[in-house]
Amino acid sequence: MEVQFLGTGAGLPAKFRNTQSFVFDFMQELKECWMFDCGEATQHQILKTNIKPTKIKRIFISHLHADHVLGLIGFLSSRSFLLDKKESEVIIYGPKGIKEFIEQNLKFTFCSLTYSIKYIEISEEACIIDSKTVGVYAYPLRHNIDCFGYKIVFKKQKGSLNAEKLMELGIKPGPFYKKIKEEDQFEYNGNIYNSSDFLSEDKPGKEIAIIPDTKYFSELDDIVKNSDVIITECTYLRATDESHARKNYHLCITDIHKMLSNSKAQKVFLTHISARYDKSTEDEVIENINSSSEVYIAHDFDKYKF
Ligand SMILES: [Zn+2]
Ligand SMILES: [Zn+2]
Repeated sequence: MEVQFLGTGAGLPAKFRNTQSFVFDFMQELKECWMFDCGEATQHQILKTNIKPTKIKRIFISHLHADHVLGLIGFLSSRSFLLDKKESEVIIYGPKGIKEFIEQNLKFTFCSLTYSIKYIEISEEACIIDSKTVGVYAYPLRHNIDCFGYKIVFKKQKGSLNAEKLMELGIKPGPFYKKIKEEDQFEYNGNIYNSSDFLSEDKPGKEIAIIPDTKYFSELDDIVKNSDVIITECTYLRATDESHARKNYHLCITDIHKMLSNSKAQKVFLTHISARYDKSTEDEVIENINSSSEVYIAHDFDKYKF
């Protein structure tokens, strides 16, 4: 799995940072890509990447501020032109009002899509996806309008089959291997075997926490505590700007230090960065982070595997 950042700026588009959006490539795990937020000109950013809009099957919107939604109508509309005849539904998750925002804009621009949109409007903490492979949870944050963070939890998967051991019994690779992997026990030559004796240990699933616009509150520490990957806003990179963060309902680097002191995340990405900081401030911030996690300040088009 990998994530690519399309917009990493706060509030307004800047020369080197577009407004917020990033896309997860879960093709291997789920045969889908997922987009989080869709700031203005996100579709223009996509043109400079290998991301295929038709592969984006789910869009998660954190909140209705302009810098997180103004790219939606253009993206959804262009996606119609890229699809084959086959309909390919998009599911959009977001706070109350997201459906009206999209439908009114499509109506006023006389845009009729060639595919359907299913809306899941969120008003409180909820499990919004629960499949065999993955669960997604929405968490209310503390911004100046309703805003949700998300946690993606991949479930643990069965280990790999020990083909050598099965061959010793005389079971050759074939469709029967799938049955052994899927079922707890299997019968061969009149004997019953436990499948677990032929499987390596379960593979743990990854947990990804996404924290968009919010001010700091102590429950944030719990949301990110068990995550392997954290993508969090950090509008204010300098500790001296903490008062701006408090006033504007955003996070400051001091809050990130608090969040990370309890976390065992492998990778942490800071995004939604104010345009006031230059490269040397970024370098200084990374140098002064005291954490066992690898911490990165995201830039537009950065791509990371995890
Ligand atoms: Zn924002
Ligand atoms: Zn906002």
